[in-house]
Amino acid sequence: MTTELILVGGGLANSLIAHRILMKRPDFPLLVVERAASLGANHTWSFHDSDLSAGQRRWIEPLVAHHWANHELRFPNRRRTIEDGYNSVTSERLHRVIAPVLGNRMRLETEVTEVTPDGIVLADGRRIAARAVIDGRGDPGGSHLDIGYQKFLGLFARLAQPHGLTGPILMDATVQQTDGYRFVYTLPFTDTEVLIEDTYYADGPALDRPLLRAEIEDYAKQQGWAIAEVTGEEVGVLPIVLGGDIVAFWAVGPAGVARSGMRGAFFHPTTGYSLPDAIRLADEIAAIPSFDSASLFELTRRRSDDLWRRTGYYRLLNRMLFRAAEPDQRYRIFERFYGLSDGLIRRFYAGRLKWNDKVRVLIGKPPVPVLRALRCLVERRGRRV
Ligand SMILES: Cc1cc2nc3c(=O)[nH]c(=O)nc-3n(C[C@H](O)[C@H](O)[C@H](O)COP(=O)(O)OP(=O)(O)OC[C@H]3O[C@@H](n4cnc5c(N)ncnc54)[C@H](O)[C@@H]3O)c2cc1C
Repeated sequence: MTTELILVGGGLANSLIAHRILMKRPDFPLLVVERAASLGANHTWSFHDSDLSAGQRRWIEPLVAHHWANHELRFPNRRRTIEDGYNSVTSERLHRVIAPVLGNRMRLETEVTEVTPDGIVLADGRRIAARAVIDGRGDPGGSHLDIGYQKFLGLFARLAQPHGLTGPILMDATVQQTDGYRFVYTLPFTDTEVLIEDTYYADGPALDRPLLRAEIEDYAKQQGWAIAEVTGEEVGVLPIVLGGDIVAFWAVGPAGVARSGMRGAFFHPTTGYSLPDAIRLADEIAAIPSFDSASLFELTRRRSDDLWRRTGYYRLLNRMLFRAAEPDQRYRIFERFYGLSDGLIRRFYAGRLKWNDKVRVLIGKPPVPVLRALRCLVERRGRRV
């Protein structure tokens, strides 16, 4: 069997691409090569109902391990419940659903050492040829994007008594503001099982893990939750893009190779979340009748460029958050934002703001000094600082 398409990395983006292609063409000869022992590593990926179309929600449904009808926000001067569903896909579920469909079209615990438009080389020196290759090896790092960070440490915990929540708390910013904009994110999986994440929109990527664990235990106590057992932990340091050079970003790495996920800068600039963009890309790639490396590269490159151009406004807001607001005052930007209409908030996260939404977000008394806000208007194409 000739391999038509090799997907390098079996993380979120490439697993979704493979899954979507095989939903349409079950016998398609593709190959997913992943260094870890399972697809998707160890992750919980969440998204709002309104991030996706009805058709996209339908095909992603089997991967959704948890759904809630609403979610809550808490700030010092605002508390709000939004009636928009929230969902979590777990890597465990992703693997359980997609691995059997892939069967022998999946190689786990296999390191790829070289990627070219027409094939890959494995750590043992073997070469596998293909008509097209997609590089989905995750965030490439590098210095061409000017970024801040959304960083967090989360504890999966079993509580001694039910928590009493009816849905997730996406931001509880009533906590002490340290290291930038700080909030606690809580997903209640069952009556007593929760994920509690201490989260920071910070200038630097460093995480003091013992301190954050202690902060979470403290937070749980304040909520009246007794942690009976910590069952797991997750850590994330996601890029929040303030500006940069998308052409230079793409110039690093194997030339002429299509990219997916974080590797292709397919993520929301203000949250660093990539799941909705990964679903959209999977839909687009699965609709291609036949693959060749040149046109697949062109498609992903052009799509990444379009996304970059469409999200300039988000980068402006990010610059205001990181450059105009004092770190301990950053929460006021979100507190004010969450006073806007449900529809606008949904469109913000879905990346579908209308021009009048953009005006609405910026008018009124800004929660940042005006002169500093004005200095944020210009986007530097320069390097990360
Ligand atoms: C803890 C955490 C929580 C997050 N939560 C959310 C969320 O709730 N919602 C959301 O939308 N986004 C979330 N994100 C952000 C982003 O969506 C994820 O990072 C997402 O997993 C990125 O998908 P990806 O496919 O680009 O990369 P990954 O999922 O990281 O996949 C890359 C894969 O490539 C493999 N790989 C790398 N190099 C090689 C190699 N040389 N050979 C073989 N395999 C290789 C890796 O093992 C990995 O499995 C989160 C990120 C983190 C870290």
